[in-house]
Amino acid sequence: MTLLGLMQNTPLLIISLLKYAADYHGQREIVSVTGADKVHRYGYKQAYDRVCQLAHALAKLNIKSGDRVATLAANTHRHFELFYGVSGIGAVLHTVNPRLFDDQITYIVNHAQDRLLFLDPEFLPLLERLAPKLASLEAVVVLASREEIPETSLKNILCYEDFIAGHPQDYNWPVFDENLASSLCYTSGTTGDPKGVLYSHRSTVIHALGAAQKGAMSLGPQDCILPIAPMYHANAWAMPYIAPMVGAKLVLPGQKMEPAILEGLINRERVTFACAVPTVWTMMLEYLDKSGKTIDSLERTTIGGSAVPAAMISRFKEQYGVDVLHLWGMTEISPLGTLASPTPEIEELPQQKRAEILTRQGRAMYGLELKIVENDEMQKTDDGKQPGDLWVRGPWAAAGYYRLEQEKILDAEGWLPTGDVAVIDQYGYMKITDRTKDVIKSGGEWISSIDLENAACGHADVSQAAVIGVHHEKWEERPFMLVVPVAGASPVVGDIRKFLATKVAKWWLPDEIRIVETLPLTATGKIKKSALREEFKNFSLSGGKS
Ligand code: AMP
Repeated sequence: MTLLGLMQNTPLLIISLLKYAADYHGQREIVSVTGADKVHRYGYKQAYDRVCQLAHALAKLNIKSGDRVATLAANTHRHFELFYGVSGIGAVLHTVNPRLFDDQITYIVNHAQDRLLFLDPEFLPLLERLAPKLASLEAVVVLASREEIPETSLKNILCYEDFIAGHPQDYNWPVFDENLASSLCYTSGTTGDPKGVLYSHRSTVIHALGAAQKGAMSLGPQDCILPIAPMYHANAWAMPYIAPMVGAKLVLPGQKMEPAILEGLINRERVTFACAVPTVWTMMLEYLDKSGKTIDSLERTTIGGSAVPAAMISRFKEQYGVDVLHLWGMTEISPLGTLASPTPEIEELPQQKRAEILTRQGRAMYGLELKIVENDEMQKTDDGKQPGDLWVRGPWAAAGYYRLEQEKILDAEGWLPTGDVAVIDQYGYMKITDRTKDVIKSGGEWISSIDLENAACGHADVSQAAVIGVHHEKWEERPFMLVVPVAGASPVVGDIRKFLATKVAKWWLPDEIRIVETLPLTATGKIKKSALREEFKNFSLSGGKS
């Protein structure tokens, strides 16, 4: 006999997080940088009131459950309001990454069939270029007050402050199935067109609950959180959900991620916890060293998106008294997967061993399972020595991609391949050792090696091209290209670079291009990237992005 529990089956809906903060932490502040010198402040109660107004305004435009509403926006209070207003009425918040190429943004908005677009004034020139190709958009709302909207050739632009003004400051939020879609984020971390990860209310709330735990990020009302990781890349690592859930102060840094601005915010607002990719912190540490400034209020920072160098962790601790919490995640897992928080067992180890373990990507959060599988036989390995493919399973991991549901991405037991290669040590700490997906992550954003290779092969003198990611002091990884000329041709590196510049964005251009006679091949005649990666594993680049 099936015996069901006799407990209330309250659906886990995203709006409940903000409603809770409005009721119990109503005065706790959200600070938002909206312009060069403009800082906006209000409490969770006021934010909630405006979110209710936004919900009315969306309903007036007939935005319904399941409709996609796009944003092209930095971390600001207005973007935060959209996280709740859009999902709260049952519509889907589609955060578009403005750093992608025009073609990718066009593809993404059309693929998602977004009905509305909310954007920061800074992205108006981008929209002016793309608007004729974005057929599904019915209205565009600029996230600003009327005076802040610059001249634009676009017609029928709405102003956010006017859009929400005058609507009631309460809303009868619909109650629906917690499995309904809440937000959408496309990832270009695989090959081919970007793919949409469609989060649900349930996955989002459980993920936030898991991430806030003491053994994970350990966040509470005493904290002041600075999400530097953008809200358009995997929801700023869930900070817009976690902060109201735990009643923490939230500091949203806006468009400019310059170290001086971030340092000013940390000191002024007494930030205790921040999150960002390593590149942001490389620049920050350089700035602090040069300026002699300190960041005394900052107790901890979580760093991930790319491997965190051991030297960064020790510099943070020794020079600035900040504990680094290394994390690993991916858009497909909401995005948090593992965190290198110390267990009592690790605390007791000799300092050097402890530091070495905490440099790894960390232990799985409660709720997420990890397995390491040997490449060919799909045999599980747990000897702590042999790296293998990393697979994950859990309530905040993707089961498929939006409008690609026919493509099965899970194995028979529901595990998702990550495209990362890892090893799990005897203490349960996972360490990423390699990547099987053929992409390069530069300063937290993806570059497709295959697109670069195809672009290079379009050059009349190029027969074969291979691109691998090599270590870079500032950007963590940069593209490095090897080119085999067609027989009898003598291409010049500068010409190949110029040719590539007409095909790909400037920040994708390889930092180094080398002409070689041959490339290593596999038995089936494919370029053996693993051999190239091995050959150049100690190669390091420095200097600016080309
Ligand atoms: P994204 O979906 O853009 O967030 O990228 C996820 C991918 O970034 C992962 O599959 C890894 O390849 C890489 N990544 C994320 N965090 C780390 C980390 N701490 N160390 C190494 N690679 C990481």
